[in-house]
Amino acid sequence: MPELPEVHTTVTQLKKEILNLNITDSWSGYDSSYYLGKPNIKDRNYFKFFKNKVVGQKILGISRLGKNIIVELKEGYLVIHMKMTGHLLLGHYRITNKKDQKVLPEKWQNEHWVPDESKLSGLWDPFNRRIRFTISLSDKRTLVLSDVRKFANVRWVLNLSDDPSLKLLGPDMLGINYKKFKERIMLKPNGLIKTVLLNQEVLAGIGNIYSDEALYLAGIHPESRVQKLPSDKSEKLFKSLKTVLEKGVKLKGDSTSDYRQPNGQPGNFQHHHRVYRRKKEKCLEKKCSGRIQRKVVQGRSAHFCEKHQKMF
Ligand SMILES: [Zn+2]
Repeated sequence: MPELPEVHTTVTQLKKEILNLNITDSWSGYDSSYYLGKPNIKDRNYFKFFKNKVVGQKILGISRLGKNIIVELKEGYLVIHMKMTGHLLLGHYRITNKKDQKVLPEKWQNEHWVPDESKLSGLWDPFNRRIRFTISLSDKRTLVLSDVRKFANVRWVLNLSDDPSLKLLGPDMLGINYKKFKERIMLKPNGLIKTVLLNQEVLAGIGNIYSDEALYLAGIHPESRVQKLPSDKSEKLFKSLKTVLEKGVKLKGDSTSDYRQPNGQPGNFQHHHRVYRRKKEKCLEKKCSGRIQRKVVQGRSAHFCEKHQKMF
C-alpha cells in the first residue's frame, strides 16, 4: 500500500517527466454504482465532467500532500489517492486489439491497455497490468493507473482548500519537529499508538509498513496508550519514524505488495524489513530472543517483537 515514501518516489520521478506537457485525452475503466453522484471518476457521469475539465490542460506542477498525488493544471488540480493497490506508471501504451487478445496470456485478455514497449520493460510486470485509468500526454506517452483492487480515488478540484478530505489532513510526518509530533499524537491521548500513527488527520503520510518498522525500532508495543508513553520513548518513536520514512524514500519505496515506480520497476524497502511480515521469525535486535508476532489492532495488522517492544 503506497505510503509517504512510495508517493514521494512517484511524485519525484514524474516531476522530471511530465511538467509542461498537455493532457490530450483521458480514459476510465472504472464504473461503480456505489459512487453514483459522488465526485469520483468511478461514477461515469462524473468522469464525463472530469474529462471535460482536464483534457486540453497543461500540467504545471506535481506534488504530494500526505499520501495524495496533486497534479497542478492551468485550471484546478487533479487529486489522486492510490489507496490499497493503485500506482501510477508512465510509458508508451496502446489499447489492445483483436490480435493482442490471441497473443496475450489468458489472464490479460479483456484488458484494454498494454505497454507499447519492449517486453523487457518493467511495464509488463503483472502487477502493472490492471489499468483502470489513463491520461494521454502531448509527448505521446500515457500516464496510467494500475489498481488491482479498484480502491484508488481520482478527482478534479478547482481549489485544494475546498476539498473536504485534503482539508482534514494533519501535518506531514517528514515536515515536523518533535514538539509538533508530540502535540499531534496527544490529540488522541487514549488512542493506541499504532492506530494513532495511521490516522491521517493526526499525521499525514504514515501507513502500515512504516508504522510497524518504527514502533519496532523504538521498542514500543503497538497497543501502547499514547498518553502512557514516557517522553524518551515518544522521542525515540519520532526519530524512528523519520529514519524508516527517509530510508523508504532513499530505497524508492516498498514493493511487498503492488507498488511500483513510474517506470514499472519495484522499489527496494521490502528487502530491509526488520519486522513487517516476519511473523514467527526471530527478532533481529541484538541480545533479543523474541519472535515476531502478528496481531490485528483496531482493524489493521501489526507486526511486533513479543519481547523488546514494551507495552506502556
Ligand atoms: Zn525483539
